[in-house]
Amino acid sequence: MAQRQIGNQRVRICKYDTVIVGSGAAGMNCAKKLYEFLDGKGVKDAATKIAIVTRGLSLGASRMSGSDKQTYYKMGTSPDVADSAESFAASLTAAGCCHGDLALTEAIGSLRGFYNLVEAGVPFPHDSMGTYIGYKTDHDPYERATSAGPKTSKFMSECLEKIVRRYGIGIFDHKEAVEFLTTGDGENKRIIGIVTIDCKSLCKDDSGINVFYCDNIVLAAGGPGELYETSVYPHGQVGIHGLAFKAGLAAENLTESQFGLASTKFRWNVSGTYMQVIPRIFSTDANGCDEREFLASFFPSMSKMATDIFLKGYQWPFDPQRIENLQSSLIDILVFNENQKGRRVFMDFLHNPIGGDGMSEFKIEDLEPEALNYLKATGAMQKLPIERLEYMNRPAIDIYKEHDIDLYTEPLEISVCSQHNNGGFAINRWWESNIKRTFVIGEMAGSHGIKRPGGSALNAGQVGATRAAEYIANVYSGDITEDLVDESQIKKTIERISKLNNANSDLIPQQVILQIQHRMTAFGGHIRKLQNAEKALADTIELQKKIQNNGLKIVEPMDIIPAIQAEHLAFASIAYLKAVVELLKAGSGSRGSHLVLNDDGIEIHPDVKDPDTGKPLKFKQENKDLRNSILRIEFTESRGQFECLTVPVRQTSKERKAFEPAWTDYREGKIYN
Ligand SMILES: Cc1cc2nc3c(=O)[nH]c(=O)nc-3n(C[C@H](O)[C@H](O)[C@H](O)COP(=O)(O)OP(=O)(O)OC[C@H]3O[C@@H](n4cnc5c(N)ncnc54)[C@H](O)[C@@H]3O)c2cc1C
Repeated sequence: MAQRQIGNQRVRICKYDTVIVGSGAAGMNCAKKLYEFLDGKGVKDAATKIAIVTRGLSLGASRMSGSDKQTYYKMGTSPDVADSAESFAASLTAAGCCHGDLALTEAIGSLRGFYNLVEAGVPFPHDSMGTYIGYKTDHDPYERATSAGPKTSKFMSECLEKIVRRYGIGIFDHKEAVEFLTTGDGENKRIIGIVTIDCKSLCKDDSGINVFYCDNIVLAAGGPGELYETSVYPHGQVGIHGLAFKAGLAAENLTESQFGLASTKFRWNVSGTYMQVIPRIFSTDANGCDEREFLASFFPSMSKMATDIFLKGYQWPFDPQRIENLQSSLIDILVFNENQKGRRVFMDFLHNPIGGDGMSEFKIEDLEPEALNYLKATGAMQKLPIERLEYMNRPAIDIYKEHDIDLYTEPLEISVCSQHNNGGFAINRWWESNIKRTFVIGEMAGSHGIKRPGGSALNAGQVGATRAAEYIANVYSGDITEDLVDESQIKKTIERISKLNNANSDLIPQQVILQIQHRMTAFGGHIRKLQNAEKALADTIELQKKIQNNGLKIVEPMDIIPAIQAEHLAFASIAYLKAVVELLKAGSGSRGSHLVLNDDGIEIHPDVKDPDTGKPLKFKQENKDLRNSILRIEFTESRGQFECLTVPVRQTSKERKAFEPAWTDYREGKIYN
């Protein structure tokens, strides 16, 4: 890296054809595929043209997150059940607000992405004939899901990293993204680089500033995990949504986040077998005393209550359409209801569910057929949940043991947590954003609709990575020769960073982040109300202005990192809350994974209370008319504000050419037009 003195700072500068921000499963695969496409085209030293820049190789959802058997959703591989890309795409678009072309592309690219991982060494199980056996996941009508165990996405990113390293691609670790460098306006706008701070070299004498110039940039920095207080995203998954908005990227479906039950001491989803073994679920007061079987009074029978707990396994995300008539998402609501009262909720694998007055004792034979047949078929008829879990999925116990939680001796604290954003930055069918040469892949990309089958996030990340790499290699691989280094622009960034540092400010970075997280969980989370969201939006805009005007109090050099994060998380949360407000104003109702409260709505139960009023909580049903359009949001620099518009859902391409004309299009590169 070349060094330059800019102002009073030493700045390290380098230039790559393509910079990939983020080193999760998506970013790693993009680097791998880009190398292979370039190498295949005869580009010499392809590795030297690519760089991965990341705040933490060991961070992010791919490396740190999972569940009982973390799911990868792919086209069916059963020897006797036929599947098709159109049918797969129909599952992705089923609940609406999902672009048909993206869904079909994800379907078509699915097996290619899957076998790329198999070849990379991800241990997806197969039988003696080589069949990759599937199972059913949430919002999945077939058995398209597979898994390499609780740590599927970790294995994916690790196996891909090995290949990336073998190819000799540079990985720049510990680089916190600070700002994108841009040129031009409107159609001509380009991101030409990213400024980062090296957290390792940051000290009194070194600001740690690095600038990575590039012709193409791929944003693979994951979901906005640190936006939420009650969250199962791994700690430190900050994301770069605020920076991307500031650079001019448009986003879609931001409102469609997923929420569900997860353990909080060690952040992990309690889906699949954790629920299918039917543990006892109980609550305590804040000190862990006064145990109560809080679910019991809401259910007419033990059989119904226990079956609902079982169903949470593959109906994992909180789903407002699964509350009425004692369906499984009633459990999420009741857990939330307990938490609202200041009580803590636990899963206890040492006991079967305990009923209330007049309820019979738990008997596995009394379960409703769906649960009973599954447990019989898998041979999981042991007496206790822990025995059933040990029998069905030993690694699901081990993962907690690795994090000092012993399910054989202690209960597991859970909450309804934020887990994934189905929305993200707007992309076309090559995963290119509204800014040319800027691609968005993985969870940062907004390719999903209101609901998605479990496991389709990992599939979308792999397909998007391949698509972006293919496009870059075939369309944008020529070097831009002009010298892009513009010292005045870097100087402005340095000035902005030092302006952020104000010893007299009353804003402490960590406290500001906590404030943002609390507001997002309370008002932009799985329970929403227009007045609350409007107030939260106004308060966040106020906070952002205060940060701009007064800066943040930085005591140690390292505090600059949370200060930068606080600034862009505040900006990102304005976008999220604004989208929530606009969708509520459009009359959306409860959909996807969130509930919209409304005085005229449907009452769940007299004892499930609205936290604001203490009256029975009532929710508004989904307005299905909105399923064919998507809420898009963009920061308009000239007006200094976020603006929303509604765009129609793009339809699935029906273009099916005969082989010869398709071959000509391919040879002549017309497929990239
Ligand atoms: C508990 C849990 C369970 C899940 N289970 C499933 C499942 O079963 N199936 C499924 O399909 N999906 C699942 N998901 C979602 C899926 O794991 C993620 O969407 C996916 O791993 C995201 O991959 P990614 O490569 O886009 O981003 P990540 O893996 O999150 O990587 C982001 C990268 O960006 C870097 N980065 C972040 N912020 C910055 C910054 N400010 N500056 C520089 N670098 C930055 C990080 O260090 C990291 O390298 C689950 C998620 C969670 C949280």
